[in-house]
Amino acid sequence: MAGEPQADCLFCKIVAGEVPATVVRESETTVAFRDINPQAPTHVLVIPKVHHPDAASLAAAEPAIAADVLRDAGEVAADEKLDSYRIVFNTGSGAGQTVFHAHAHVLGGRGLQWPPG
Ligand code: 5GP
Ligand code: ZN
Repeated sequence: MAGEPQADCLFCKIVAGEVPATVVRESETTVAFRDINPQAPTHVLVIPKVHHPDAASLAAAEPAIAADVLRDAGEVAADEKLDSYRIVFNTGSGAGQTVFHAHAHVLGGRGLQWPPG
C-alpha cells in the first residue's frame, strides 16, 4: 500500500533505526540526517517517514507531509546558519536519483552554481 514501509528501501531502514544515520532533526512525520557522501559543507537529507518513491508522488498522496519536508529543510538551513542554500529533489535516475524514497537534499556552506549540472 502507498506509504507503507518497503523491506528493500534504505531510507525506510533509517526511519526504522535498522541502519544508523547522523540525525539532526526529527518530527512526527520526518527525519533529517547528514548525507553519507556530502557534496557541500552542509549536506542534509530530509525524508518523510512514509515511503513514496519521489517528491511529486509524496506531494500528490500526502501533501501535508510534503509541506513538513519543506518546513524542516528550512529549519535545517536555519540550524546550520545558512543564509543561502539549495533544496534539491532529484527525480529519476537520469537526474541522479539513486534512492527511491522521497528526499530533499539541503545543500549549503559554499558557493552554489546556477544553472546546476
Ligand atoms: P539521490 O542520489 O537519490 O538524490 O540521493 C541519495 C543520497 O543518499 C545520496 O546523496 C547518497 O550519498 C545518500 N546515501 C546513500 N546511502 C546512504 C546511507 O547509508 N546513509 C546516508 N546518510 N546517506 C546515504
Ligand atoms: Zn522507503
